[in-house]
Amino acid sequence: MKHPATALAPARPEALGEGARLTVDLTAVAHNVRLLRRRTEAGLMAVVKADGFGHGAVDVARTATAAGAGWLGVTSVHEAVALRDAGLRVPVLSWLNPVDADFDTAVRRSVDLAVPSRDHLDAITRADGLARVHLHLDTGMARDGTEPGAWVDLCRQAYAAERDGRIRVVGVMGHLACAEMPGHPANAAGRRLFEWGVATARGAGLRPAVRHLAASAATLTEPRSHFDLVRVGAALVGIDPTGTTALRTALRLAAPIVAVRRVPAGTPVGYGHAWRAASTSTLGLVPIGYGDGLPRNAWDRAEVQVRGRRRRLAGRISMDQFVVDLGDDPVRPGETVTVFGPGDAGEPTLSDWAGWADTIAHELVTGLGPRLRREVLAVAKGSLT
Ligand SMILES: *Cc1c(COP(=O)(O)O)cnc(C)c1O
Repeated sequence: MKHPATALAPARPEALGEGARLTVDLTAVAHNVRLLRRRTEAGLMAVVKADGFGHGAVDVARTATAAGAGWLGVTSVHEAVALRDAGLRVPVLSWLNPVDADFDTAVRRSVDLAVPSRDHLDAITRADGLARVHLHLDTGMARDGTEPGAWVDLCRQAYAAERDGRIRVVGVMGHLACAEMPGHPANAAGRRLFEWGVATARGAGLRPAVRHLAASAATLTEPRSHFDLVRVGAALVGIDPTGTTALRTALRLAAPIVAVRRVPAGTPVGYGHAWRAASTSTLGLVPIGYGDGLPRNAWDRAEVQVRGRRRRLAGRISMDQFVVDLGDDPVRPGETVTVFGPGDAGEPTLSDWAGWADTIAHELVTGLGPRLRREVLAVAKGSLT
């Protein structure tokens, strides 16, 4: 089989130069925060765990607080400390820690701590200084949070520790399992359980001022779940688990075509020869792979955009690269392939990719690899009012 020589001209300077580029548009985050604030009378906690859903925890935190988020939320103490180190001063809550986490540091750096068990309460009570805590009730996930059967005891113990001046119970939190399905009976059940949990805490003598249950989905669809504070992560970066709201996507992933070649019908491409050219076709090599977070199992459904047209992948996604079937387009090396973006110009979106990969956009954004060059589009000063 005769394969014509591959063109290897260098990428044009106006294209992407060094390779794949991930653009993080913080103006989209600012827009989403303003939209979310209009949707609720509660305070807004910007959840920036997992490096701000892959968008950069400090960048998202700064953008969200400048746009009106009064709280920040993360899982671990060390994520919270990184926000403090970056100079962020609003209340920060860390809710998922082993019992031997560095609670001394958390207290010293003014990091609020969630309490999901008696063991955690005991450990936090022993920390140096007065810990600000949020009692975490499991409102129907059997995951994090205290089981309802142990809640009364936890509240009593927390009251004793508060009376002794060891902790201050600032809040009560829960989390809903099925909020992306508005009307699911687990949502009302979770809300009732949460209300019971708050009443029980008050009955034990506690005065939790900040009650918080809703994450993105419930914030967008169920005002009765908002209470005093909503904890929003996905929606900040434009992921709407409910499909109800026009949020702005903050990410664009693009790469230059590294090489093109013309191949005859029947040419097998990539590992396992999983794909063969149906007719004479031009193939483009793109330097992004599953090592950068592209879901490997999406290859036979996925599309990218080249010269304004959707194009299918040719063969499996490799660790560092994939091949795109360009048909008869006379595409040159250095031209841009858009893997995903906001969708404004017909390019695939993260939610398209999530569908092709049988997953959710959350998993894709948090899986983007450190090898991608990042370009951050900042919010212009004065545009946040
Ligand atoms: C991740 C997380 C959130 C934010 O969830 P989104 O659906 O991304 O808004 C809120 N609360 C808890 C406990 C979480 O783990």
